[in-house]
Amino acid sequence: EPDPTLRPDARPEDMDRALRPQSLDEFTGQAEARANLKVFIESAKMRGQAMDHTLFYGPPGLGKTTLAQIVSRELGVNFRMTSGPVLAKAGDLAAILTNLDARDVLFIDEIHRLNPVVEEVLYPALEDFELDLVIGEGPAARTVRIDLQPFTLVGATTRLGLLTTPLRDRFGIPTRLEFYTVPELCSIVERGARLMGANATPDGAMEIARRARGTPRIAGRLLRRVVDFAVVESDGTVTQQLADRSLTRLGVDHLGLDNADRRYLRMIAENFAGGPVGVETMCAALSEARDAIEEVIEPYLLQQGLIQRTPRGRMLAAKAWAHLGLDAPKRGPQ
Ligand code: ADP
Repeated sequence: EPDPTLRPDARPEDMDRALRPQSLDEFTGQAEARANLKVFIESAKMRGQAMDHTLFYGPPGLGKTTLAQIVSRELGVNFRMTSGPVLAKAGDLAAILTNLDARDVLFIDEIHRLNPVVEEVLYPALEDFELDLVIGEGPAARTVRIDLQPFTLVGATTRLGLLTTPLRDRFGIPTRLEFYTVPELCSIVERGARLMGANATPDGAMEIARRARGTPRIAGRLLRRVVDFAVVESDGTVTQQLADRSLTRLGVDHLGLDNADRRYLRMIAENFAGGPVGVETMCAALSEARDAIEEVIEPYLLQQGLIQRTPRGRMLAAKAWAHLGLDAPKRGPQ
């Protein structure tokens, strides 16, 4: 059975919070995004204005929420947090917007899931810091215009493609977050171990980093589990051997793939002869939601060159056949 807490989108909040970096300098990786944000934050502060609206997009667990919090802290303003699905009515958004102080950061997670009615209300708020609210119903209904304090919207999404064009166009600072390199994850693991007061050898930390699926959230989770094994079944030190054994027991293989990843790959190999197979067919075959497949499973497999996306669907790459220990079928001359 796949362990759901090891998925990159699982988020028991209190577990993550302790490891969250608090400043841009403490934040590892995403060098380009970080360098740019530094300039935009500095400039907003020097001009005494709200920073431009910012969109963070990329797979779950890469630091979108963390960066949003850091931006508000570095700007020295309040951080308000909500999410697309939570803002059901225009009034919900209005209540939040009218309570913002000047230059505050409003963070909307899963912004691709905003109700279209709420999104309409958001446009003038973003553009002109104005809110047009309809008061009353029927013939007595009238629109009132409310002036807002200038604020910064920070949106986060795992699905850039699902944002409407008008919403996308209102973000002055669109920022794509990338999977982390192994050395970056290694320093995140080492920092995490220090914060937990745990002992990890350099190659112990490296072993966890290599198997963290390019994702800090997973690195943090794996570290905690491995530390548990180290404390209970060894002398408390995370060595490479101990990390290797623990991660294998958790179902995390040498590429960092978990049960759900391998199930996906094996399905294409064994039931669809390596593909191409359409995403809808994969959803049905795996009984997984399309979102989970497209946002959580596939991005890392694509990045690792284990699968390819073709116009006719997903295909296993040679690396995946080798990883599964299977022979790719002969396809005849191309
Ligand atoms: P997202 O919003 O993209 O899903 P989060 O910002 O919630 O991701 O990050 C998930 C967890 O990963 C955070 O709680 C934090 O502990 C850790 N994390 C993310 N980015 C970094 C980083 N660059 N350095 C260290 N830890 C990080």
